[in-house]
Amino acid sequence: MPDAPPPLPPPRPRVLSGMRPTGTLHLGHYHGALKNWVRLQATHDCFFFVADWHALTTHYQDRSAIESNVYDMVVDWLAAGLDPEQATIFIQSRMPEHAELFTLLAMSTPSSWLERMPSYKDQVEKNRELATFGFLGYPLLQAADILIYKAALVPVGEDQAAHVEVTREVARRFNRIYGGKTDDSARILPEPQALLTETSKLQGLDGFKMSKSAGNAIAMRDEPAVVEDKIRRMPTDPQRVRRSDPGDPARCPVWAFHELYSDDATRAWAETGCKSAGIGCLDCKQPVIDAIQREQAPWRERAAEILANPKQVHWIVELGTERARAVARKTLKEVRVAMGLVY
Ligand code: ATP
Ligand code: MG
Repeated sequence: MPDAPPPLPPPRPRVLSGMRPTGTLHLGHYHGALKNWVRLQATHDCFFFVADWHALTTHYQDRSAIESNVYDMVVDWLAAGLDPEQATIFIQSRMPEHAELFTLLAMSTPSSWLERMPSYKDQVEKNRELATFGFLGYPLLQAADILIYKAALVPVGEDQAAHVEVTREVARRFNRIYGGKTDDSARILPEPQALLTETSKLQGLDGFKMSKSAGNAIAMRDEPAVVEDKIRRMPTDPQRVRRSDPGDPARCPVWAFHELYSDDATRAWAETGCKSAGIGCLDCKQPVIDAIQREQAPWRERAAEILANPKQVHWIVELGTERARAVARKTLKEVRVAMGLVY
């Protein structure tokens, strides 16, 4: 008698996340999301995508910026440690399946759910060019991005948590309307959960959220001299005017970087030195500069290797797109059946 085949391993829980190719990735992207992506790829079935349609929601007039960032962003991901043999990497606009699910979900999603998204009204008031159907609808497009892979976890920064919440509501409503009576079929589209890091909102050089458009970011691949210059110019406690004035880390934007990068001993040294005016602000900044440069060194090295063979990045994306398509098509088939779209 031949041996019975070994039992199949249980399926790994699915993970989905994306980033917009609207600029160079910065430390906020790494510590808010990408760090979790790298961590999850060994244990989860991971799908990560270049959200170029989402980039168009705000940059529809300025597409050149998107084009130049698509593959460059994938280089940043690979440099940070994403492994294409473990994780599936693809481009959103190559997947019309996402648009089909978006259209189908739109039928049952109340428009008030989108109008009340945090900061939607603020952003449109600040910039009338954002008063488009695409910008209003982008959280629903995100819901389609997530639900089409039946993702259990969505590793993102804090600003995205509300979008994952609305995705859960969209899934719940869909399941209720189209899921039939049994518990099992009510889970055609499982509800995902956001997964945050400890640094789900990294501050920038000015103390506000680090952001591409705010000019307050340190890029993942900034040169060591640029990092040094940016940190040395950072404002500190505004009440510490002279070197001899005692300061307070609670008022200083540099402290957020100590919290992320320094060990207990360094933090104690910085806090005591600041409060007693025992050290100057440049002294206090030096361990932060060193730590960021140390963190970036392997990213820059790996990026240089990857850039020496750019065709490989295209192949990785080709392969990833095909893998993603197989999963997306399967979900769409189930959705079409549930909605009665099989004639
Ligand atoms: P930016 O905020 O720099 O303008 P973006 O909003 O265009 O970038 P997204 O593609 O929306 O970029 O963000 C990619 C991911 O990085 C998201 O999960 C987002 O929450 C996260 N993220 C962006 N900035 C930060 C930050 N400062 N701290 C933590 N996470 C962040
Ligand atoms: Mg964002």
